[in-house]
Amino acid sequence: MTERIREFLRNRREDGPCLVVDLDVVRDNYLAFTKSLPDTRVFYAVKANPSPEVLSLLAGLGSCFDTASVAEIEMGLAAGATPDRISFGNTIKKERDIARAYGMGVRLYAVDCLAEVEKVARAAPGTKVFCRILCDGVGAEWPLSRKFGCAPEMAADVLEHAHRLGLEAYGVSFHVGSQQRNTGAWDQALASAAAIFRECAERGITLSMVNLGGGFPTKYLRDVPAVEAYGASIFQALRRHFGNALPETIIEPGRGMVGNAGIIEAEVVLVSRKSDAPDEVRWVYLDIGKFGGLAETMDEAIRYPIRTPRDGDILVPSVLAGPTCDSADVMYEKEPYLLPVSLEIGDKVLIEGTGAYTTTYSAVAFNGFPPLKAYHI
Ligand SMILES: *Cc1c(COP(=O)(O)O)cnc(C)c1O
Repeated sequence: MTERIREFLRNRREDGPCLVVDLDVVRDNYLAFTKSLPDTRVFYAVKANPSPEVLSLLAGLGSCFDTASVAEIEMGLAAGATPDRISFGNTIKKERDIARAYGMGVRLYAVDCLAEVEKVARAAPGTKVFCRILCDGVGAEWPLSRKFGCAPEMAADVLEHAHRLGLEAYGVSFHVGSQQRNTGAWDQALASAAAIFRECAERGITLSMVNLGGGFPTKYLRDVPAVEAYGASIFQALRRHFGNALPETIIEPGRGMVGNAGIIEAEVVLVSRKSDAPDEVRWVYLDIGKFGGLAETMDEAIRYPIRTPRDGDILVPSVLAGPTCDSADVMYEKEPYLLPVSLEIGDKVLIEGTGAYTTTYSAVAFNGFPPLKAYHI
């Protein structure tokens, strides 16, 4: 936790859980990305944390934005990014949303099939498109499904179709899975991308760009490699597969840009046992859970570090749950969380690494618990 966040929380008087994001940390992360991948343009994935403060900071630093909806495009523009710095990166778009994006000046679109190419050709004629390919997501703690992307063997057909319909077949994209702990995960996808570049060249189409996606991790309970290690590994893979004809590249970090900048302060509402059996695991209920912003605890995928005022005391396994009346609102049970035996009702706990994928997941006031309050300082 940074001194600025500590100071902010010391002075906060309001009740209820809140997220505090230190914008200085976001700035450091942005600079680390540009330093580690110097010839790569950064398109921040807006969905990770779309707060105006984060977007304005990044726009001011020169970041571009990866957006998934008209609303996210408008947020990027409102933050000061010009439309040439915005990518409509969702492969599943309504044609009228493409038309609205085109009307706002957006000229870069993701596609992964012929039908989507046709929509873009009609609603955003002459623009650049890149084809997203599937990636297996091995090594990622929050793997992405088969929802986005086509088989690499199909990409040249998709791009050729775009070319024939008057679009600029611009390149290839992929996402190696979020919270990707393996710095080598980009290698396989870059091999596929290079093969697609060659196949398109044979068809008389010159591609120029590889979109390396997101996946850069943030630190939760386990350590993760530094962004420099990802930069070095990606550069080697680019050299291996593209030789001296390096393509233009972009990255779309979300979690790695904002995750470690945020901390949620929450409160222990109840500590209880379900029976007197000596092997019965203790339950700890917080005033935040899956519906209040911690949705990524689904399947216990993301394990957040939790600090308590009683750290240093003996740790006991505890089932950690949220406050709502939905039985799915249990965060860690299969693998109970080790928390101090002395933890008490009313104690404040700090949940670290919560700057990404929290506020937007809490937007619905489920069970009357309000959306997560957030302060970007
Ligand atoms: C969500 C998303 C990202 C960000 O992924 P992280 O793993 O958070 O870095 C990047 N690109 C696309 C297309 C996305 O949908």
